[in-house]
Amino acid sequence: MNKLERPITTQNVLDAFARVLDSQYEKGIKKYGTTIDQAKDSDYDWNLMALEESADLMKYLIKENARLRKEKTTINTLCSEAYEIAKSKGWHDEERETGTLLALIHSEVSEALEADRKGDKEHFAEEIADIFIRGFDLCGLKGINLEYHILKKMEYNKSRTYKHGGKAY
Ligand SMILES: [Mg+2]
Repeated sequence: MNKLERPITTQNVLDAFARVLDSQYEKGIKKYGTTIDQAKDSDYDWNLMALEESADLMKYLIKENARLRKEKTTINTLCSEAYEIAKSKGWHDEERETGTLLALIHSEVSEALEADRKGDKEHFAEEIADIFIRGFDLCGLKGINLEYHILKKMEYNKSRTYKHGGKAY
């Protein structure tokens, strides 16, 4: 019979479970000198053990999710951070016109162009970063959900025609 071709995620789940079960088996032998197959029903309350393990599973998942949320740097967290840093340096003490903030993004684009003209790759990368930092700051200030808009626009771009219907550039 041909080996069942499983979707990759299903196969990964099976592989991960097989590893955990093998490791549990070895641990059981080392710790208790027996396996779950040999354990007597009279010695264990399987139902209670299952409930306790389920409760622990929930605790582990909640802890892990909290850890991932803390570690995760998203585009929107970059927006908040860029805004907070600019604010702490006094750049938002007075209300600034949107036009000024957009012009400042533009000034970073010009700086990137100059760096590229000089062939300075390190400086070029720094100025590209400045473009985004100023963009993030603007979105932080205006409460724009940049991540949502980027993903939405990229999805739309995927659906557009070749060279967006014959534009020259
Ligand atoms: Mg700059």
